[in-house]
Amino acid sequence: MVSLTTKLDRVLGAPSAKALAKAFDMTEVGDLVGHYPRRLADKGKLTDLADLRIGEHVTVLARTIGVKTISYRPRGGGRQATRTEVTVTDGSRELSMTFFQQRWRAGQLKEGTIAWFSGKVDIFKGKRQLQSPTCEVLGRGGDIDDIDVDIEGLQRWWPVYPATSAVSSSSIHKSVTFTLEQLDPVADPLPDVTRLALGLIGYDEALRKVHLAADPAEWEQAQARLRFDEAFVLQTVLAQRRRLTMSLPAVPRPARKGALRSRFDAALPFALTAGQRGVAAEIEADLARGHPMQRLLQGEVGSGKTVVALRAMLQVIDAGGQAALLAPTEVLAAQHLRSILALLGPMAEAGMFGAADDATRVVLLTGSMTASRRREALLDAASGAAGIVIGTHAILEDVVRFADLGLVVIDEQHRFGVEQRAALTAKAGSTPPHVLVMTATPIPRTVAMTVFGDLDVSTLRELPAGRVPIQTTVVPAGERPDWLVRAWQRVREEVGAGHQAYVVCPRIGGEPETPLDEPVPDDDDHVRRPPLAVTDVAAELIGGPLSDLRVFVLHGRLPGDEKDDIMRRFGAGDIDVLVATTVIEVGVDVPNATLMVVMDAERYGVSQLHQLRGRVGRGAAAGLCLLITDAPAGSRSRERLDGVAATSDGFELATLDLENRREGDVLGAVQSGRRSSLRLLSVLRDEDVIASARSAAAEIVADDPLLERHQPLAEAVRRLVASEQADYLEKS
Ligand code: ADP
Ligand code: MG
Repeated sequence: MVSLTTKLDRVLGAPSAKALAKAFDMTEVGDLVGHYPRRLADKGKLTDLADLRIGEHVTVLARTIGVKTISYRPRGGGRQATRTEVTVTDGSRELSMTFFQQRWRAGQLKEGTIAWFSGKVDIFKGKRQLQSPTCEVLGRGGDIDDIDVDIEGLQRWWPVYPATSAVSSSSIHKSVTFTLEQLDPVADPLPDVTRLALGLIGYDEALRKVHLAADPAEWEQAQARLRFDEAFVLQTVLAQRRRLTMSLPAVPRPARKGALRSRFDAALPFALTAGQRGVAAEIEADLARGHPMQRLLQGEVGSGKTVVALRAMLQVIDAGGQAALLAPTEVLAAQHLRSILALLGPMAEAGMFGAADDATRVVLLTGSMTASRRREALLDAASGAAGIVIGTHAILEDVVRFADLGLVVIDEQHRFGVEQRAALTAKAGSTPPHVLVMTATPIPRTVAMTVFGDLDVSTLRELPAGRVPIQTTVVPAGERPDWLVRAWQRVREEVGAGHQAYVVCPRIGGEPETPLDEPVPDDDDHVRRPPLAVTDVAAELIGGPLSDLRVFVLHGRLPGDEKDDIMRRFGAGDIDVLVATTVIEVGVDVPNATLMVVMDAERYGVSQLHQLRGRVGRGAAAGLCLLITDAPAGSRSRERLDGVAATSDGFELATLDLENRREGDVLGAVQSGRRSSLRLLSVLRDEDVIASARSAAAEIVADDPLLERHQPLAEAVRRLVASEQADYLEKS
């Protein structure tokens, strides 16, 4: 009996199993047969050498056209050594290979030999090469069709696997083939009716054919089925989660007339946009229900999400509950406190002279507070005196108690995982709270379905009227140093006109030489110097072009109260220019700031730049964003920056961002743990697959919520959940 959960050493023996475990972290049969070929190579054709990427481990079919062995004396002395250099071709391009101390290769690979070569592509003296690749000779001859190939089982189409130097593609294929022979038929997670309706082949058949396809059509069929399953099992998990939440009880928090929320509406200095009213109505209805709200609110930077969330919090307070607002950074938490206090006025001054009768209290709870202030905040949360508790993940700590937590608002979700959401939910005691998740990074529909499939999604598309769009200009400092001079002049003009400016750098300065945020893939040819640092740039500006302005720095290594103090003074207009890291990326709201200068702009992702520039032009005055870069004209980095400058539509940019990133990064950025389960499915391209898998899963879960009558699916779900948890544990 061999099943997907049988240990590999039982099937392949310890040495092979150990090699696979070391190279790919495989332990069970399911891991090995889930290692799909990257492509199906045509034995009748040499591999196109134009596609090889530096750093990638490749397997190519090629013909040798030159072999020479060079003797040399190693630098630093030592015995005479040899280096055998082999040049291969695909018929048009060439690739060189180097073997050290392997003279015999000259005989094995003499001119005209056709063989598989596996190795890592690197670059030597400007030419691409494979160093000491593994070789598998197929034969010899001028034309590939003349070769009398006698490798056992070799057919025209040959699967090429992701491989390493220790485990070659063909040895993987051998292990897989052997394992599949032993493997008992695998039960199909997809019920036949659904499967036939979708025109998919059986699971067992697909699992075998993906490795042993006779031709590309068969391979495609197998992949289509397996791709569907990746979406299907995931959607089943999400459908179950969703159903579970829907079935949980929650305390209904219906709106009350004449209470805090109505008074807040009446006092609001502006009218809500149509979009805000629509979303507000959805949330109002959700909160009034006896089941927990699970809603994602996505909206462009500055679209007014915070106001909508505050109204929801007031509705819950009016109904006798408390709300928690969770922000990704202390700076942002402190700023939420300030802006919410400003919006609420006397409505937030409970216990103070002149406060409104039904006033509430808003408290801040962060990791860097003094012990006494923290104790006070904890007491206010536990006694129920605080209607709103604002904080960072410090709110998740065990000691924090609420009297009656009715609503949790999570700002900028992409920094929080499912697990943190669960921890907060546990804080509410016997019944889970309503949850509102906000994000300013627009999420394409497919990604939303995959990552947030257990949430309802609301979208704010329009910006409040009267907003002047931000103008963005790329400043090629490398080509036009005079433009950089002009940029600093612009800062002075802006400050002269009574406004303020941000200067953003990718690094703090001082020690760690590593960039702060995940760097954009290094796609460029231009020479890279270390990223510019806040401290260096600030010193230069203070000593030079901005010497007569009030320039301050802000970054994550400053103590919490200093950060607060600087943000407060910037908010009050006592600081002209803030030189900062991306700590100011999300949510910071100082309407008088009108200019943002981003140094080394090519080092940021598209969405991040969009977030950053959202910090200016928040008031009535026009905003300007200058993207300073050394990236040369025509490079991919420059194109990306031009893309950001060309549009201010966040959804358009999110798509551009996805195109520029690899799949794993996309999911990884939104949530860890989900990426490893997706091998064939692309959340970017497979919208149709995801949509049909979603409806198939919903149907099955509606009919059989616990999957009692769908055992194979239940098993697949267990496997996926276990692997996601393992992934999460590893990363935390
Ligand atoms: P987000 O959180 O979506 O980035 P905010 O809620 O912080 O946006 O709103 C950005 C700014 O716009 C705030 O100063 C807010 O007071 C203001 N604002 C929100 N809604 C409106 C509206 N309907 N009309 C005018 N200004 C608004
Ligand atoms: Mg906000």
